[in-house]
Amino acid sequence: MEKFEVTIIGAGIVGLALAARLAPKLKAELLLVEQQEGFGRETSSRNSEVVHAGIYYPENSLKARLCVSGCRRIYQLCRENDIAHQHIGKLIVATSSAEETFLDELRQRGCKNGVSGLKLLSAAESKTLEPQVKAQAALFSPDSGIVDSHNLMRLFQNQAKTAGTTIAFHTGITAIRPLHPGFRLECTGPDQDNFSFSSKIVINCAGLNAARLSRSAGILTPTIHYAKGSYFSYNGPAPLSHLVYPAPPSGGHGLGIHATIDLGGRLRFGPDLEYCETPDYTVNADRRSHFADAIRRYLPSLDENRLVPDMAGIRPRLQGPDAPFSDFIIREETPKTPGFINLLGIESPGLTAAPAIADEIAAMLDL
Ligand SMILES: Cc1cc2nc3c(=O)[nH]c(=O)nc-3n(C[C@H](O)[C@H](O)[C@H](O)COP(=O)(O)OP(=O)(O)OC[C@H]3O[C@@H](n4cnc5c(N)ncnc54)[C@H](O)[C@@H]3O)c2cc1C
Repeated sequence: MEKFEVTIIGAGIVGLALAARLAPKLKAELLLVEQQEGFGRETSSRNSEVVHAGIYYPENSLKARLCVSGCRRIYQLCRENDIAHQHIGKLIVATSSAEETFLDELRQRGCKNGVSGLKLLSAAESKTLEPQVKAQAALFSPDSGIVDSHNLMRLFQNQAKTAGTTIAFHTGITAIRPLHPGFRLECTGPDQDNFSFSSKIVINCAGLNAARLSRSAGILTPTIHYAKGSYFSYNGPAPLSHLVYPAPPSGGHGLGIHATIDLGGRLRFGPDLEYCETPDYTVNADRRSHFADAIRRYLPSLDENRLVPDMAGIRPRLQGPDAPFSDFIIREETPKTPGFINLLGIESPGLTAAPAIADEIAAMLDL
């Protein structure tokens, strides 16, 4: 049976960032396995590509800490490796007095998290930045931006490969058996052939599938809910030049239907939030009026007919429909299953946090 020192399951942005981080030390002792035919085919290619500054998350949470340091690391990686990105800046807008009070709370929370440059804007100041946006006040975050996440993932893949990592696509892990020490991983290969190999350490970066794999290793694992987020694109020249977000809904349920601009200048609205039983990426065109109502609160001039169903992504969420905020889970499953590292509930800001998550795990493994 073939043997590896460390196996990473899942070549999304997190598994790839981690492979790039561990590869220089582990070289050919590191394996990255991915069930799809290439990298980033699931949640990592179905998101807003926003580099979050780290404003929203409770102080000292993993989401806050890893987002703030991941944000800095992503911009640095983009500068050093010529990956397209823009410090486009973001406005979070208040359309009522209650929301205005909440913006100040958000500003304070962001400052405690280490986000720099946050500034509360009056209605007039907000209008100067975004003439078409209706805001009683706004919170401006200059560090929020956008990134070419596909090329970022390609960079991580190349760094891992160059250092000697084996990357096995079309290879789905079906079960993990603890061997005490180490693990046997059972899988299905490209020709539907079944085989197994062993690994001293397993790092579960399997996104939507992470809980199922964790349970297959006999680990008591929390439920991961599927929370679908759909987008509508805007057909026509963008009437906005920044990322524009409403004040977030209470209870930490998403960031509200917001406006993002991609590196090609294309405007998209979303994602909304719908819990679902199984991953389903179809966008329901009937949700157009729901989107239009939410968008008109901050962009009254919106022409609903310009909204076109675009794409959807699924968040792997630990937080159920009526539950309070939940953080990422990143832990070694000691004492029962040492050597098994679980990453569960890596929803937003997982793209931004990926390089910092990789550092966190490298420190855990002393690598
Ligand atoms: C709608 C939406 C918008 C978002 N917007 C943002 C944003 O703007 N900014 C931000 O920072 N974050 C955002 N996020 C969050 C971000 O996209 C995710 O946190 C991030 O992509 C998670 O990456 P991952 O590598 O953990 O998971 P994934 O990309 O899901 O990767 C997991 C990989 O594991 C593979 N896998 C699963 N099971 C197996 C198996 N049995 N064997 C082998 N391989 C397996 C899958 O095929 C997949 O490639 C958003 C998420 C959503 C859904």
